[in-house]
Amino acid sequence: MQHVLAAQRRIRGIVWQTPLIPAPQLTQSVEALSIHLKLESLQYTGAFKLRGAANKIMGLTEAEKQRGVITFSTGNHGRAVAYAAREAGVKAVVCLSEHVPKNRVALVEQLGAVAEVMGKSQDEAETHYEHLIRERGYVAVPPFDDPAVIAGQGTVALEMLTEQPELDTLLVPLSGGGLLAGTALAAKAINPQIHIVGVSIDRSPAMLKSLKAEKPVAIEEQETLAGSLLGGIGRENHYTLPLIRKLVDQHVVVKEEAIAAGMRFALEHHSLVIEGAAAVGVAALQQGQVETAGRRIGIILSGSCVEPEQYLALMKENFKKI
Ligand SMILES: *Cc1c(COP(=O)(O)O)cnc(C)c1O
Repeated sequence: MQHVLAAQRRIRGIVWQTPLIPAPQLTQSVEALSIHLKLESLQYTGAFKLRGAANKIMGLTEAEKQRGVITFSTGNHGRAVAYAAREAGVKAVVCLSEHVPKNRVALVEQLGAVAEVMGKSQDEAETHYEHLIRERGYVAVPPFDDPAVIAGQGTVALEMLTEQPELDTLLVPLSGGGLLAGTALAAKAINPQIHIVGVSIDRSPAMLKSLKAEKPVAIEEQETLAGSLLGGIGRENHYTLPLIRKLVDQHVVVKEEAIAAGMRFALEHHSLVIEGAAAVGVAALQQGQVETAGRRIGIILSGSCVEPEQYLALMKENFKKI
């Protein structure tokens, strides 16, 4: 918990304390006591990932900053590292797989980072990244499995529970587990009784499979609306897997239609554009998989990186169904 508090102080100048807004329609439709949405979709660079990246980079020694930083990412983490590195005056290299949409590559480059596009999957991009670390001595800023990154992501929960201490249930998108591990660490330190729910996508439940196998399990990448939740938990996982096993109370898996409905809910009721990965908490509630009666629920809307054409087509398709 000290690490999360330290992270909050360290990243204050770089990260925005995003709004936590009430969601009255959703509260009513699932018969909860209250529901609040944490709008990390509005965070600088479009996702909470800036928190972990900024905490890691701001905590480097001067000598490490001189060497420059490197990461591999499906997009949001890459942008976060590029932004935080620029703020800290550090050179950044971002390794991306060929599956990452071109607009995401461009966004990284616009932030002054060098984009290295290589490999067919996140794991192959990771192999290239490891090669560059050995060859050129860059300092790694991993997307989730790192104590400073986890502590940075934990500041989301710290802000939520400072503003609304009575929240008793948190719904958190889950991929590599940095956000969920950080959230669980911070939230349980503040309120040990709080109910923490990790929400995975049915097309890529890497953490769930790994929890069952008690070691990292690789899974095939599939098309999904929640692209930011693709990828494994790393071939070696030191932190997020054990933390999630220890601290998380419930896991839920959501389907593509529910993700689309969650995105549409955010647009229709809150005028918010959110990406698929950010809609999984709302989707889990709408699928009826989380206890809502008498609960005060907080949901993290984790990001807003969408391709406009694809997003608009999806919303149209969705609206036609009613
Ligand atoms: C990275 C990301 C997640 C998942 O976070 P992990 O720490 O990998 O579990 C969720 N939503 C968005 C928008 C993301 O960019």
